[in-house]
Amino acid sequence: MFNNLSDKLDKALHVLKGHGSITEVNVAETLKEVRRALLDADVNFKIAKQFTNTVKEKALGQDVLTTLQPGQLMVKIVKDELTQLMGGDAAGINLSGTPSVILMSGLQGSGKTTFSGKLANYLKNKKTKKPLLVACDVYRPAAIDQLHVVGEQIGVEVFSDKGNNDPVAISQAAIAHAKANGHNVVIIDTAGRLAVDEAMMTEISNIHKAIQPQETLFVVDSMTGQDAVNTAKAFNDVLNFDGVILTKLDGDTRGGAAISIKSVVNKPIKFIGTGEKMEAIDVFYPSRMADRILGMGDVVSLVERAQEQFDEVEARKLQKKIAKNQFGFDDFLSQIQQIKKMGNMKDLMGMIPGAGKMMKDIDIDDDAFKGIEAIIHSMTPKERTNPSIINASRKKRIGKGSGTSVQEVNQLLKQFNQMSKMMKMMQGGGGKKMMQMMKN
Ligand code: GDP
Repeated sequence: MFNNLSDKLDKALHVLKGHGSITEVNVAETLKEVRRALLDADVNFKIAKQFTNTVKEKALGQDVLTTLQPGQLMVKIVKDELTQLMGGDAAGINLSGTPSVILMSGLQGSGKTTFSGKLANYLKNKKTKKPLLVACDVYRPAAIDQLHVVGEQIGVEVFSDKGNNDPVAISQAAIAHAKANGHNVVIIDTAGRLAVDEAMMTEISNIHKAIQPQETLFVVDSMTGQDAVNTAKAFNDVLNFDGVILTKLDGDTRGGAAISIKSVVNKPIKFIGTGEKMEAIDVFYPSRMADRILGMGDVVSLVERAQEQFDEVEARKLQKKIAKNQFGFDDFLSQIQQIKKMGNMKDLMGMIPGAGKMMKDIDIDDDAFKGIEAIIHSMTPKERTNPSIINASRKKRIGKGSGTSVQEVNQLLKQFNQMSKMMKMMQGGGGKKMMQMMKN
């Protein structure tokens, strides 16, 4: 997620994070670099300019240059502004109706159907919600079938009426069906087009007027950058929607849409999609996203995801182990196995402070873990709990046993060491140590 942007911001802020003296000149230089990084990430020109101006004002206002740790304060100002730009606090969705009706809008291919399924699954897992999915794309029978497949996969009922070509009538019938059958949330998936066109806008607007949903969400593919922002504007003009869903953040997105969209349409990003699987949905937290963009990781989301997938007791045990510096290769292995269930590897690694940066050049996918797993499987139980005993001859044996080279074994040991150090630091002392780590 946002690797390029993170990289460039990291480089831009590097001087300030270093130990050298900080002058007005290098603050100005840094901000120029920050602006360039934002522009490269496809952030709207005006927004990028305004952003660096605000950061500069705040820096001068807080007299950054005379503080003891000017670099850290600058990073904090940048982080806070980035958070503000993306919306400040997290925004929830309105589920107050009986049933609550959620209307999905967006272009074809943006990920509406997939997200409708993810949201239904997310709400269903909350136990108090019994969602109904509604297929309202009357032009593409395949789209209706796709929603049925999704519904079956997550065990949520799908309402459709293939012969009917009036989406307003279908939505109304679906809401009546929901009321009669105890569904307290209705998620309406609508037809999209490849580009904004009048017929589509009229259709979605008619549905919107007729059913008056509690929540109208605009789904947009984050890979489309500035286009995403323009499409958002067009939909917002017609629908005055309540929130944005940014999909495909697991891909190689530049980040422009995530950063610009809130200030352009003045509507919060509510959820993000981070993969094709039904579980790949996250509430959007501007501050956590800012942390990730600045390479500070997102431990809170990582733990939350772990808790969603696995039981809390396990998560606690792990936390304790890390605190006691007892995190060994067995734990690492079981983490890998669990992480694999959680979706995109690179995305998850990016949540560990520093790890995203460390692993940015490594192409992590499911196969990439095979080598690591093989290496760990070739270690003895003792070696797994106490990796420091792994000397040259042990490395040779492990390499041979796992079909890898000594270099690969070395690389894994090195990464494991760095990771353990970072984990300990995270446990040990909150923000201060994390900042210190960023300097290195
Ligand atoms: P719709 O036309 O707006 O309903 O879009 P779909 O839901 O059919 O999604 C279009 C394509 O994008 C499908 O191949 C989905 O699997 C894929 N997709 C949707 N959301 C995500 C996401 O968050 N990450 C990734 N990688 N792919 C996604």
